Amino acid sequence: MTGYRGRFAPSPTGPLHAGSMLAALASWLDARAHEGQWLVRIEDVDRQRCSPELAHLILQQLRDCGLQSDLPPLWQSGRSEAYQQSLDQLAARGIAYPCCCTRRELEAAHNDNPMQRPRHAELIYRGTCRNGLKGGISKKSLAWRVRTDACKPIQWSDRRLGAQEQDVQREVGDFVLKRADGCYSYQLAVVLDDAAQGITDVVRGEDLSNNTARQILLQRQLKLPTPRYLHTPLVLGANQEKLSKQNGALAIDSTQPLAALNQAALVLGLPPQQGKLADALNSWVGAWRTLWLPLYNPAP
Ligand code: GLU
Repeated sequence: MTGYRGRFAPSPTGPLHAGSMLAALASWLDARAHEGQWLVRIEDVDRQRCSPELAHLILQQLRDCGLQSDLPPLWQSGRSEAYQQSLDQLAARGIAYPCCCTRRELEAAHNDNPMQRPRHAELIYRGTCRNGLKGGISKKSLAWRVRTDACKPIQWSDRRLGAQEQDVQREVGDFVLKRADGCYSYQLAVVLDDAAQGITDVVRGEDLSNNTARQILLQRQLKLPTPRYLHTPLVLGANQEKLSKQNGALAIDSTQPLAALNQAALVLGLPPQQGKLADALNSWVGAWRTLWLPLYNPAP
């Protein structure tokens, strides 16, 4: 066993589909090829959109496909205290601040169409509330944002995509850590959980690569280690658009686990397999070593 620790972090807003299956298989193969551990984390931080039934269904679908977490899954719904502690810490240091801008105000300022936004994209926020709320505000529930105005552009290296850079202040602005409805943001939760679980390597779909700079910014503010990142190609639908739960991607058929895995393997450039599930997975670990490990880059 090496020090490698990877994870698969599904949000239980729907069953496993071809896109999430690919992230599950790629992260599992990378962990096995490194002789490391593979953990599953249930990202149910947004309780309105997630359900425990769907989480259990996903865990069952993973088991059906021969992918089992090496430790009991971590559930974000049980982590509020840790999230609040870190938020308090950032607030005490003047790095996080309350914001009373409504979604409607922000959307109007952007002429935004939420349907066209990528996963976890935010409306650029230039810091309207950064230097204090406007007088007379009596709103009880406020969002919390992190200041990005003093941050230099974030540079990082992706094992597949190579050198990356994002000026978070300009491209995203002060992003949300906690929403006005009390829900902690994906960015805050994922950073704290990756650190708490000792994750050394994040392997996930390329549609999330745009979130990485925000996560590194938070890791630096919270003095947490930065894992290595590998963003995989995406499963595309017939229209060449990314498959997602939002555009009706079908749940995988876990009575045919090998078919679901083969579909993911194809996108990852791995040869098709037939026969026993365990043998297929083993062959893919070997193929992953040859094909994907040469891309391995230590973090800068
Ligand atoms: N739960 C996140 C999502 O489904 C993915 C988290 C991650 O892999 O960083 O969008």
